[in-house]
Amino acid sequence: MAWYWRTLRFGKYLCPFIRNFYLKCRITYLSLTYNHFMDASYMADVCMGPMFWFVDTFTHAIGNLLVGAVISLTASVVLIAYWIGIPFWWKKNQYTCIFLITLGHWLLLNICFHYYMACTTHPGFPPEGELITEAVSICKKCIAPKPPRTHHCSVCNRCILKMDHHCPWLNNCVGYRNHRYFFLYMAYMVMGVIYVIFAGWEIAYNSIMLITEECDEPELEGHSVKINKTGALIPVTGTVILDSSFLEEHELEPANPYRRKAIIYMALINLGVLFALGALTTWHALLITRGETSIEANINKAETLRLEEQGKIYRNPYDFGPKMNWVLFLGLTERRSFWRHILLPSGHEPIGDGLSWSTVHDEQKSIPVEEMFKTCNVKTKFESYSKNNVEEVILDK
Ligand SMILES: [Zn+2]
Ligand SMILES: [Zn+2]
Repeated sequence: MAWYWRTLRFGKYLCPFIRNFYLKCRITYLSLTYNHFMDASYMADVCMGPMFWFVDTFTHAIGNLLVGAVISLTASVVLIAYWIGIPFWWKKNQYTCIFLITLGHWLLLNICFHYYMACTTHPGFPPEGELITEAVSICKKCIAPKPPRTHHCSVCNRCILKMDHHCPWLNNCVGYRNHRYFFLYMAYMVMGVIYVIFAGWEIAYNSIMLITEECDEPELEGHSVKINKTGALIPVTGTVILDSSFLEEHELEPANPYRRKAIIYMALINLGVLFALGALTTWHALLITRGETSIEANINKAETLRLEEQGKIYRNPYDFGPKMNWVLFLGLTERRSFWRHILLPSGHEPIGDGLSWSTVHDEQKSIPVEEMFKTCNVKTKFESYSKNNVEEVILDK
């Protein structure tokens, strides 16, 4: 009976504690959802704050490791291509080999240049301590004016002009000043991977499919053998003599366990990168064609649905049509050419200043798009902005 009384007494102390805890939770909930600006989604934001903090801190901490991983993996693929690919093609056809070496080094140059630039170029920040006339809202985290297309990065802990996303593989934010480097790095990397797969296809087929690991020793089954004094088995058949001429006849390289493992590594890594980075590059190419960033894609989707419910059509204000969107993204104005500024490494600055952005409204004011972007400092006043920094063009259905 003593334990019963003890439990009852403990319950007496516990009940007020539970009641207090419940009341505190309720007051917290009510104060977080008190008015329109502090709704349930704001409360969810506050509650998930520690989780976001962990993810942001973790992303920042592993950034350097991931950059090291990208450099190591790329270097290993290049070294294996030098070790196995070049001798194979040189033996097969010297002209093809010279062509492949030229093509490969052009791709490698562009990959290294664009990766270096994407990592080291700052994405563009709003000026501090200055009046920003283009500002459309205030950043709640920085308590500072926010120009259009600017968003706050919680990993970098500052506002980024025309922010696309924070990339842990670059350990940098992708924004106004390095967006082109980021995309071209991915595009050249995918082309490089496709190049390695094509150039290494025959090598991989010969090494993986034709030479099995058991092939390190001559296949003796079915032939009479004799054993010499060292104990080695020597085939005595006159029909098949397995020496180096057999390998040459079938264009096979002598079996080497390290070589074979390197080829399997190349096959796995290149196919993996092709599918993963290929999908990401296609997605970003689609966004650029539509004149939007990754963040704006979400905002535009939500706005489209919101206005659809009201019977209106939403139009992305930064969408000047596929061709012009690409010209603007690649910065191909002022006599810049595709051959010189895209196919070869180029450090040209993006169009404009990242603070003010021309919109389709300017086009509607009968200013030709080509004229709007002729100079690098186009300043256009916007008439109105939506709450998400994206101007709406509403057309009645
Ligand atoms: Zn901010
Ligand atoms: Zn960032």
